[in-house]
Amino acid sequence: MAAPKVAVVGAGVIGLSTALCIVESCPSCSVTVLADQFSPHTTSDVAAGMLIPHTCPGTPIHTQKQWFKETFTYLFAISNSAEASEAGIHLISGWQVFKNAPKEELPFWSDVVLGFRPMSKAELQKFPQHRYGQAFMTLKCDCPPYLLWLEKRLKATGVQMYTRKIADLWELQGEYNVVVNCAGIGAHQLVGDEKLFPVRGQVLKVHAPWVKNFIRDGDGLTYIYPGIHRVTLGGTREKESWSLSPNAGTTKDIFDRCCSLEPSLRGAQDITVKVGLRPSRQCVRLQKEVLRQGGVKLLVVHNYGHGAGGFSIHRGTAKEAARLVGECIAALQGFSSRAKL
Ligand code: FAD
Repeated sequence: MAAPKVAVVGAGVIGLSTALCIVESCPSCSVTVLADQFSPHTTSDVAAGMLIPHTCPGTPIHTQKQWFKETFTYLFAISNSAEASEAGIHLISGWQVFKNAPKEELPFWSDVVLGFRPMSKAELQKFPQHRYGQAFMTLKCDCPPYLLWLEKRLKATGVQMYTRKIADLWELQGEYNVVVNCAGIGAHQLVGDEKLFPVRGQVLKVHAPWVKNFIRDGDGLTYIYPGIHRVTLGGTREKESWSLSPNAGTTKDIFDRCCSLEPSLRGAQDITVKVGLRPSRQCVRLQKEVLRQGGVKLLVVHNYGHGAGGFSIHRGTAKEAARLVGECIAALQGFSSRAKL
């Protein structure tokens, strides 16, 4: 069989990292990325990019932990290399604070991040409205630089990238042997997945270089995540809202909530507002599917539905998707050698 041709639909963090894992695990494959939007116009560009996982009710905890651990290990190595600043990856320390102690004292990811411990009484004095807290060090991706870094690596290995909107995965049959669906919220329309729904998030990106530590309210709604150049202030979680227009009232509310956690933010400057739609589902759809029309088949691998935690688990799910692509190719090669006998 000639070099297997693989199309990856989607150029957010999931599509780009999946394409990279396919190239790494199957160097003989010819990989093409097709997307109607590339950075800086994807949901992934809006994200804060913090590595703090969100629990997916439909996926076993040990699987979520493995995806997170693989992602953390991968990004930790980048943060510790000469590539760190270009890739936009850095270590960051901070606090997750709670008004009441959470039921689960140790989240499943507590032994993956670094130095996880309960906050001391002295530290908690910084947060007079909160009674309990956790201190740890994790990683943060500055999202547009990380996406550009992934694109650069893909181009260096010969991966082609084209701007193209796919109306139906079937249109790629004949051109490609395997199609990988990393369309994020676009999968709602592309494959008619009614289980996939948007959770709208509005965030502010501000200039406040004196803020060095992250602060996250345990309810997950209010957070302050310093990046290399800008600080992300969040946020909102609006289920089933498809609106990409910023809301001025929400901007004020986010700013006020963040200032109540970190009063020095009153001096923040150059505020910009971003909105993104988290591709949410009970669980990530990470599976093979064989589409059939008449006697013709198309092998598809789905990898979408990462909700509020796509950056936290992207490398783990990309590796698994690449393994599934490898199974598809092995099946095709088995079929073509049997056909020759
Ligand atoms: P996207 O980035 O949306 O990429 C989808 C790609 O598919 C795009 O290139 C799009 O153009 C393409 N596409 C779609 N349909 C088609 C089609 N029909 N034809 C061709 N191309 C198509 N996660 C974290 O882990 N940490 C955080 O701190 C964090 N903060 C967030 C803050 C906000 C405000 C938001 C909104 C999200 C946040 N997330 C965070 C979640 C994270 O952003 C997502 O889980 C992740 O970006 C999903 O990536 P994706 O590649 O699946 O989707």
